Amino acid sequence: MSGQKIGIVGSGLIGRAWALLFASAGYRVQLYDIVESQVATALDELQQQLQQLEANGTLRGNLSAQTQFELINGCTQLQQLAKDALHIQECVPEQLALKCALYAQLDELLEPQTVVASSTSTFMPSLYSKNLQRRSQMLVAHPLNPPYFIPLVELVPAPWTTDEAVERTRLLMLALGQRPVVLKREIQGFVTNRVQYAILNEVWRLVSDGIISVADADRVLSDGLGMRYALMGSMETAHLNAPGGVRDYFQRFGGEIAAVSATYGPTPNMCDEAATLAEVARQCEQLVPLEALEQRRAERDEFLIRLSALKRQL
Ligand code: NAD
Repeated sequence: MSGQKIGIVGSGLIGRAWALLFASAGYRVQLYDIVESQVATALDELQQQLQQLEANGTLRGNLSAQTQFELINGCTQLQQLAKDALHIQECVPEQLALKCALYAQLDELLEPQTVVASSTSTFMPSLYSKNLQRRSQMLVAHPLNPPYFIPLVELVPAPWTTDEAVERTRLLMLALGQRPVVLKREIQGFVTNRVQYAILNEVWRLVSDGIISVADADRVLSDGLGMRYALMGSMETAHLNAPGGVRDYFQRFGGEIAAVSATYGPTPNMCDEAATLAEVARQCEQLVPLEALEQRRAERDEFLIRLSALKRQL
């Protein structure tokens, strides 16, 4: 399928990341943005990023940075973007009204072969596609930031999305070198955020109850559980942690897991818990002052680059 046309709507952080990924696999990419000047800025930045990736030896795919850059073009009209597209990746800001308006426009322009995937982190696809004629060609393909170095993409169908659209998107993601997971039906928060929020809730409660500091709670993940999770998930970890595998694990520890789980408090509402929020913010800002956030983000990205290289070797 390489060589075919991919449309990207929205040329911000995530739209640019998708442009790099599609070009790395040899697709022709057209970038569209409602702010025309944004496309020119995006193209300049993409050229620089590609050169930098090539210089550091972290460029993906077999094509040179220059060839990949030549595969990416801007366009000024949605109609032009939709023409002959194999796939459109929607990357506009996370506002439901904005997405609904855009999808209503796309609905009039889509050709029968085009699948449209939203990068949304929060909106179930039924929320914006319900009343559209082309709704069976629409789903969510949710990446994690930065997608160039984190391979996961969550594919979330609406009840009316065809199996073919899901499977084609799955194969497309694999062709990019991403690692898609497919939800069998839509659910609020998808899976990544449901798991992430379960962790945030419990860490919040433990800090709020004065049981542990923010720094130590975070080290439970970064120096402990996360070390394994970069290689295998929670179920495989359990499977390896008992002589007879996962059945044995849950037979041995299921009672203890249930007993501990019964002691979790109610779901916190972080915006209403001002005292805990102030304490969490105080501790986080001690760890990383606000003026150092950019530098810490750069360290995180550098770490992810090295981790993704390590994972590719395995
Ligand atoms: P962004 O603000 O960086 O970029 C959005 C771009 O869309 C802007 O360039 C804006 O001009 C353009 N835009 C606005 N309305 C438009 C329209 N009607 N048509 C075309 N272009 C339009 O946003 P982002 O961080 O790239 O997020 C995009 C999507 O990706 C969101 O749905 C978000 O939830 C999702 N996402 C973001 C992250 C992240 O970490 N930022 C991670 C995963 C998923």
